[in-house]
Amino acid sequence: MRATRPRMAVMAILQRERGRQLSAQDLHREARSIEPSIGLATVYRNLSTLESEGVVEVISQEAGEAAYRLCSQGHHHHLVCTGCGAVIEIEECDLEALSRRMSRRHGFRIEQHDVTLRGRCPRCR
Ligand SMILES: [Zn+2]
Ligand SMILES: [Zn+2]
Ligand SMILES: [Zn+2]
Repeated sequence: MRATRPRMAVMAILQRERGRQLSAQDLHREARSIEPSIGLATVYRNLSTLESEGVVEVISQEAGEAAYRLCSQGHHHHLVCTGCGAVIEIEECDLEALSRRMSRRHGFRIEQHDVTLRGRCPRCR
């Protein structure tokens, strides 16, 4: 992978805002403080590359735009605050048994799952 300047700017923002999810627009606004000439299309392009490399995870929103964040490696899920956008990674996963049961019942070979729990963090309640 090439470490282009726009990519480095996007990565720097993702690292700085690790505990939050950011829209492409948010990222673009912040990244311009590092790389003033960066365009929104470039931000999108870099995000999709980073996503395909597994560096960035996309959390789809109930309404509107996708949110991006830097993710840990390894299997995990997310707790997302609908008020402030805080994200907590959950390493526990109780879905293996359900997964096996559904796979037997429906004849599916289940390859992956993702779970996002949404609600209000202590500060936003
Ligand atoms: Zn994650
Ligand atoms: Zn919150
Ligand atoms: Zn899981």
